[in-house]
Amino acid sequence: MLNPINPSSPSDGYRGRFAPSPTGPLHAGSLVTALGSWLDARQNQGQWLLRIEDLDTPRCIPGADQEIQRQLLACGLAWDEDLTWQSIQQERYQKALERLNQLQTIYPCACSRKAIENTLEAQGVITPRNQEMVYPGTCRPERIMTYEGIANRLNDAAWRLALPPHLAIEFEDLALGKQCQELNQEVGDFVLRRRDGVFTYQLAVVVDDAEQGITHIVRGADLLSNTARQIHLQELLGYPTPNYLHLPLVLDEYGEKLSKQTLASTIQTKTKQQALNTLRKAGAHLGLRDLPDGNGISIAEWLLAATHAWNRKITFS
Ligand code: GLU
Repeated sequence: MLNPINPSSPSDGYRGRFAPSPTGPLHAGSLVTALGSWLDARQNQGQWLLRIEDLDTPRCIPGADQEIQRQLLACGLAWDEDLTWQSIQQERYQKALERLNQLQTIYPCACSRKAIENTLEAQGVITPRNQEMVYPGTCRPERIMTYEGIANRLNDAAWRLALPPHLAIEFEDLALGKQCQELNQEVGDFVLRRRDGVFTYQLAVVVDDAEQGITHIVRGADLLSNTARQIHLQELLGYPTPNYLHLPLVLDEYGEKLSKQTLASTIQTKTKQQALNTLRKAGAHLGLRDLPDGNGISIAEWLLAATHAWNRKITFS
């Protein structure tokens, strides 16, 4: 029997989180993220928060947030503190956008996707499949000013962040090591609030991670290419930059990331044995070794063994 992780050892103030979008129940990929972030928090005697990222309402499925909570609890992945929903934090995001407006770093953009595609095509720029288009700067004014009444300007323009030239953002990923992204070349001025008034993931995640005092972000490697943008926003808004750890993705038989779009199936957690099997598969994906095989042990015991076995130096295959 393993000793419990020492609850009295001094915590470094670690605060982690799991931030699913309620676009469906958890699948094998999202459970890996939940488990990895939970284990990292627990091994470091930290807090683990649950935040439902439900800003993109057309993609949200009613009831999915309830199902996600049920699945997490069935797997013994309990969160600390009250869970939060992004949809009730609009004022926070508006304030951050206003702050960036005061800093003269945002501008309105009326380009449609098609218009951006056409401009890039005319410039001979080819965007590889699965990659975002680098905004060609069509609407960017010569000199950015502070705009009046941006809160009320809905449905006429998106708001983009104006990047300074030559912006290479470097950071150390706790699993993947040194990372670097040149934002102008790889992303371009990116959207903070869409034309339909919805605040984008980039802005909301940065504001919430700061407001919730998150110190460690453990999430899937599909979000790695978003991290430099988020660090730049943190710097502009005067927020601390948390530690980042990106986890290996679960791919389907075609090598695609599991998602609602690829019709990934829901994890099975109805019985204790199903939940343990699901956890074991997620643990194996995270490279956890020598864990009890799940017969005759409780979920709490398995999770304790997994917390001892957790190692940030994961092998990416
Ligand atoms: N809501 C995002 C997703 O489900 C994750 C956000 C994050 O962990 O930064 O993909």
